[in-house]
Amino acid sequence: MAENLNLFTSTQDVIKDALNKLGYDEAMYDLLKEPLRMLHVRIPVKMDDGTTKVFTAYRAQHNDAVGPTKGGVRFHPMVSEDEVKALSMWMTLKCGIVDLPYGGGKGGIICDPRQMSMGELERLSRGYVRAISQIVGPTKDIPAPDVFTNAQIMAWMMDEYSRMDEFNSPGFITGKPIVLGGSQGRDRATAEGVTIVIQEAAKKRNIDIKGARVVIQGFGNAGSFLAKFMSDLGAKVIGISDAYGALTDPNGLDIDYLLDRRDSFGTVTTLFENTITNQELLELDCDILVPAAIENQITAENAYDIKASIVVEAANGPTTAEATKILTDRGILLVPDVLASAGGVTVSYFEWVQNNQGYYWTAEEVREKLYRKMVDAFENVYTTATTRNINMRLAAYMVGVRRTAEASRFRGWV
Ligand code: GLU
Repeated sequence: MAENLNLFTSTQDVIKDALNKLGYDEAMYDLLKEPLRMLHVRIPVKMDDGTTKVFTAYRAQHNDAVGPTKGGVRFHPMVSEDEVKALSMWMTLKCGIVDLPYGGGKGGIICDPRQMSMGELERLSRGYVRAISQIVGPTKDIPAPDVFTNAQIMAWMMDEYSRMDEFNSPGFITGKPIVLGGSQGRDRATAEGVTIVIQEAAKKRNIDIKGARVVIQGFGNAGSFLAKFMSDLGAKVIGISDAYGALTDPNGLDIDYLLDRRDSFGTVTTLFENTITNQELLELDCDILVPAAIENQITAENAYDIKASIVVEAANGPTTAEATKILTDRGILLVPDVLASAGGVTVSYFEWVQNNQGYYWTAEEVREKLYRKMVDAFENVYTTATTRNINMRLAAYMVGVRRTAEASRFRGWV
């Protein structure tokens, strides 16, 4: 039988298992198996050449029993309805795992920002906010950055919403520039969270981070900051990659040099001749492998060739269900996406809290609070996995879904 690469249905399968283990019946699964709301919009945008292009976009709200929904907006040519649905469900899980008073949401626009001018991107971002304005807001659903969206795009979206609302609404969106109410540390938060989780996982496997060989797939927001943090901690980053290829050096790559040369979409390997493929990168002999790019990278095809002792998922959905089983059976510690990459939404929550109270924290306060959240979340999931003798993905889903299930029950929805 061919492997299931559909993120939506494979997420449903694990949610079902997790609810079963928690003792919930079919009715709870029926409530949580897909988003409560899914808006499909089409956005006409005037392009620089005078023509109008209509973009398809989505906003999914998985479940708001716990609180407003929360999650990023992705700009990518491969965005699909199923992907956005799955991503919104993962946001519910992430928020549950780090204990934030939110449910999961997610947005996506089918577009290729690498081929668009700043003006076109601005008009598209503003058009998206107008199209989804009825279902979003600081107490309803709070967007944020995701793949190929950044602080500038958040600023345009916040401005558009504030104009419609006729008052300044910084809490409408997170990941904003600091001058517009952004939080200290939000830009690096996902990578910082991954770094904390890597350190905790390494302790469990008696791996010393100093000198540990680390491979990172992807050099976008998460991957590039992570490469920097790992090399600052004394690890040897022996491989990195982007969408076009990968670089490796057994003695450790010069990360500062690569960061200097990367473009705003994280492309750097095109500047080099001695590249390897992304597949070869994943199979490098190393201690810690971090897929920090896109989905379905570790599959039944290559799971037997992974040589790392720890795999930490900084991307959303990089390992298939079958590969998760193979890696776990081989004794590899797999730290799942919904735990490992929850640092981003955690600092988004801090940003929203600061916006609501109008009082801003120092970088140090943000770092300390993030550290506590991530360490507690890791321990909680790790203990659930070991005491129940299940893999960390299923354990993370159990921890992540429990609160939403309980809140839905209290509200009388099931
Ligand atoms: N897009 C990020 C994620 O997938 C962050 C979401 C947020 O900050 O709300 O976790």
